[in-house]
Amino acid sequence: MANDNRKPTTTDAGIPVSSDEHSLTVGPDGPIVLHDHYLIEQMAQFNRERIPERQPHAKGSGAFGRFEVTEDVSQYTKAAVFQPGTKTDMLARFSTVAGERGSPDTWRDPRGFSLKFYTSEGNYDMVGNNTPVFFIRDPLKFQHFIRSQKRRADSNLRDHDMQWDFWTLSPESAHQVTWLMGDRGIPKSWRHMNGYTSHTYMWVNAQGERFWVKYHFKTDQGIECLTQEEADRLAGEDGDYHMRDLFGAIADGNYPSWTMQVQIMPFEEAKTYRLNPFDLTKVWPHDDYPLITVGKMTLDRNPTDNHAEIEQAAFEPNSLVPGIGLSPDKMLLARGFSYADAHRARLGANYKQIPVNAPVAPVHSYSKDGEMRINKVSDPVYAPNSKGGPAADPERYPEDTTWYADGEMVRAAYTLREDDDDFGQANQLVNKVMDDAARERLVNNVAGHIKDGVKEPVLSRVFEYWKNIDKDIGERIEKAVKEG
Ligand code: NDP
Repeated sequence: MANDNRKPTTTDAGIPVSSDEHSLTVGPDGPIVLHDHYLIEQMAQFNRERIPERQPHAKGSGAFGRFEVTEDVSQYTKAAVFQPGTKTDMLARFSTVAGERGSPDTWRDPRGFSLKFYTSEGNYDMVGNNTPVFFIRDPLKFQHFIRSQKRRADSNLRDHDMQWDFWTLSPESAHQVTWLMGDRGIPKSWRHMNGYTSHTYMWVNAQGERFWVKYHFKTDQGIECLTQEEADRLAGEDGDYHMRDLFGAIADGNYPSWTMQVQIMPFEEAKTYRLNPFDLTKVWPHDDYPLITVGKMTLDRNPTDNHAEIEQAAFEPNSLVPGIGLSPDKMLLARGFSYADAHRARLGANYKQIPVNAPVAPVHSYSKDGEMRINKVSDPVYAPNSKGGPAADPERYPEDTTWYADGEMVRAAYTLREDDDDFGQANQLVNKVMDDAARERLVNNVAGHIKDGVKEPVLSRVFEYWKNIDKDIGERIEKAVKEG
């Protein structure tokens, strides 16, 4: 080594190497020799650096921080992470949905908002979005939906005709599409957007009382969005605009934070509420279920190895801790399988042992073996056993986030309730929430989007779809497209 205090370069086996610059050759001008183990290790490792990208949510980044409970919601949940005054280390990852790993951050798309809480009772993941609803309500359509947003088979191009074909044949998408085509469809940065569970979950308190809950993470930076023009310009100038913003803000000590609030629905009320509270295409109106503050999440530490800590981060909605459970939302129940399955396919069976995914809570599981296993197992390797192995404690950890289910097995839509139509809440968004200027931007955004490749017969269906949401908006979109 030269003349400074740097550590000596080694191979991956820790063996010091003699050069960072020269391969081993037969004389300075001769051929490279096959037994240059260090050269071969470098080339082989390089060829294997990329792992499969996430199918949706491929482009993103994140940061570490902490969640602090500032209020008392113990009457609704016994989860240790949400008890008064509790501080929990956490990880957040933000992303677009449809684009690949190198795609621009500023494409119009929902944003992923995934959180991992390293709680004393195991890891708790909240896999949400920056929107409170979603395009579909049955998981059988999810794969088809994502394919319609990604690339065609022939040209390998994204295709607005394909997107609107799917959306207009899936009217349950109307609320989310209206949201997406509005101002919030392109956030100014990840720091300037809210996060939502979107799904309904269950909370259980120490007395075993059950509640339905939806989470809202309200940005303390304030909501700010990009116009379509600004986003288009930035997509060319700086495809990593949002990633750069978050990393830079945290590096500068400008730590972003979000206030966590929840809507709580008493367990029994779900049976008679005027709309299906488990339908992922619907919000619970604030007037019916006001927001209750829980605490604050602050991000204050950047990753030092994006691959190890963000690309390999695995979030899954079934990573739930005592006091928190699923709900009869069909999308949520299916995601319980699909996320963990995606991680097994992408990262291997032992992905929970990768340090960013490993819990701080002790692990006493009976899982063993598999590729890339790091944690050692010990006998006994089965349960029940009389050899002192871990034993479940149903007294302390009962299966209490359950609900009654009964019925014939069918393939059918949810049973409709009084306010369960596909267009009502989209109409509320257009007329109750947006002002004239926001409605004008909505018309322009939609018209611009469909002018880019949407053809008959899809085009006529698009006009019809928007007239179903709001007659006036639909007519204005049709006029803008036909006259523009
Ligand atoms: P409220 O008037 O109480 O709430 C409207 C909410 O709309 C605001 O709180 C804000 O959410 C959100 N919002 C504001 N501007 C936009 C925009 N350009 N795009 C999307 N959302 C925006 O009404 P309701 O609770 O009765 O809901 C009316 C409509 O508002 C719903 O149909 C839904 O589309 C939308 N909405 C409702 C939410 C809910 O959970 N009830 C959450 C988000 C949107 P925030 O405070 O979260 O920033």
